[in-house]
Amino acid sequence: MRTDGPVGRLAPTPSGALHLGNVVAFTAAWLSARAAGGRVLLRIEDVDQGRARAEIAQGQRDDLAWLGLTWDDEAPPQSARDYAPWLAALRDVYRCGCSRRDVALAGGVYPGTCRERARPGGAVRQRLADGVHRFIDRVHGRVEVHAEQVGDPILQRRDGAFAYPLAVVVDDIVDGVTEVVRGADLLPATICQVALWRAFGMTPPTWAHTPIVLGADGRKLSKSHASLSIAAMRAAGWTPEQVLALALRLLGQPAADTLEGAARVFDVTAIPRWSWTLALRGDHPTPDAIVVVPTSGVSDGSAAPR
Ligand SMILES: [Zn+2]
Repeated sequence: MRTDGPVGRLAPTPSGALHLGNVVAFTAAWLSARAAGGRVLLRIEDVDQGRARAEIAQGQRDDLAWLGLTWDDEAPPQSARDYAPWLAALRDVYRCGCSRRDVALAGGVYPGTCRERARPGGAVRQRLADGVHRFIDRVHGRVEVHAEQVGDPILQRRDGAFAYPLAVVVDDIVDGVTEVVRGADLLPATICQVALWRAFGMTPPTWAHTPIVLGADGRKLSKSHASLSIAAMRAAGWTPEQVLALALRLLGQPAADTLEGAARVFDVTAIPRWSWTLALRGDHPTPDAIVVVPTSGVSDGSAAPR
């Protein structure tokens, strides 16, 4: 796909309904591409077939359309792609027979136990170069991550299923994506993706990582925060304009009546580096009941404003 402007993407995982955290990231992705006269792709990231549900993907499309976060094309879903030739082309990979429990016992980050052992079966991991990896993020600036913080990611599971860290890079290459805008929880893992892009002989896209939205329990918003899903907010009386206004606020952008208007004044450097904690007064997520508080950055430790 050839285009003069950037190509961005909205890439929901259809394992839970969209929530405000997704919308913050998707709004930024949409604005970033549109502000530069670029294109927006939709891609359903259903590589984890054990968790993906077609009806959830449809609900996500409905929520995005309701918000006005339109897309120019829908890329094939991950479930329709063949990643085997891509994996076969990689040299810096190895077999790992460790269990989840082994990794948990090692402190939660895979320590590279199987790097020097040749094993017949097991998962396939990407061998990250040791030491500090660096990349430029449009929000966070120069980012440094130690390989040991992240650990060698799994590219293919022991049951043969391909894993997200491989799928997302192949998809972005095949789909012609030139800019990735997404939640800052994925900031450290970006070093694995940069390494894979280079291993495939490609120039990586630009990166921008947007604030994470946490629930009152201090955890990243997920499907367990059902009362803060977009569907619940719609049911509680929110208009698309009200959701957009909140997303723009959390992205440090000036108020705007429409997404097109917001795109005209979009400033990626105004996006906060901290996270937001979202609290709810009462049981229903009405526009008056949601309170957002800046919280110290989960990703890079930058301080929240007082
Ligand atoms: Zn291992």
